[in-house]
Amino acid sequence: MNRVNLLIMGPPGAGKGTQADLISERYAVPHISTGNMFRDILKDSSNELARELRKYVEKGELVPDDVVLKMVRARLLNNDSKKGFILDGFPRTMSQAKSLDLLLKEIGREIGLAVYLEASLDVILERLTGRRVCMHCEANYHIKYSPPEEESVCDRCGGELYQRDDDKEATIKRRLEIYGNQIEGILLFYKNMGCLFKVSGDLSAEEVFQAVKNKLEQSNIKTV
Ligand code: AMP
Repeated sequence: MNRVNLLIMGPPGAGKGTQADLISERYAVPHISTGNMFRDILKDSSNELARELRKYVEKGELVPDDVVLKMVRARLLNNDSKKGFILDGFPRTMSQAKSLDLLLKEIGREIGLAVYLEASLDVILERLTGRRVCMHCEANYHIKYSPPEEESVCDRCGGELYQRDDDKEATIKRRLEIYGNQIEGILLFYKNMGCLFKVSGDLSAEEVFQAVKNKLEQSNIKTV
């Protein structure tokens, strides 16, 4: 059965990953994060693709569209995405948004809801500079708001926590600049499609999730 097909967009630090995890669990759809896919590839430094991607990801630059598209295409054609998906961090350019639209048409699917998390600069900077990520399972923590029980150790799997290279202040500014250059066109694209839903990413994770759930229910989007 076709379940919910969702996008989650917003600036770095708006809480996309957290919401995508909650949605993935609640609606039993895979959380597809292009950022996580790239970080996984980078773990293997002997890999030629990793060497190529590192120059983009560590500096906060966008990976070329053709590389991202190939990866997302393969992922969406995967069996587990047939029941629905939550895409996090994709699309990030107009060209990606249009290619996604074509791909979905090709497989007879459409986006049910494109969630956009708006967040203020202060909140973004505080969240990103305090963010720590598990090297092993990618779980996210915050040194002040959601610290692990034992410093630098993941509660979920015991993996070591680290600060992403692109969460350092100079790189955050570059990521926000790139993001700002692309987002307006993408938002208009989904607004015209009638599926854009804006929520404040400054709210707590529970409040944002509640708003998304309410919207899905009100819109009669099939979720089971
Ligand atoms: P994220 O975890 O979503 O912040 O992504 C981390 C990094 O991965 C970004 O700064 C980009 O270098 C790369 N990346 C992730 N998603 C995309 C995308 N849709 N297009 C191009 N680059 C991406």
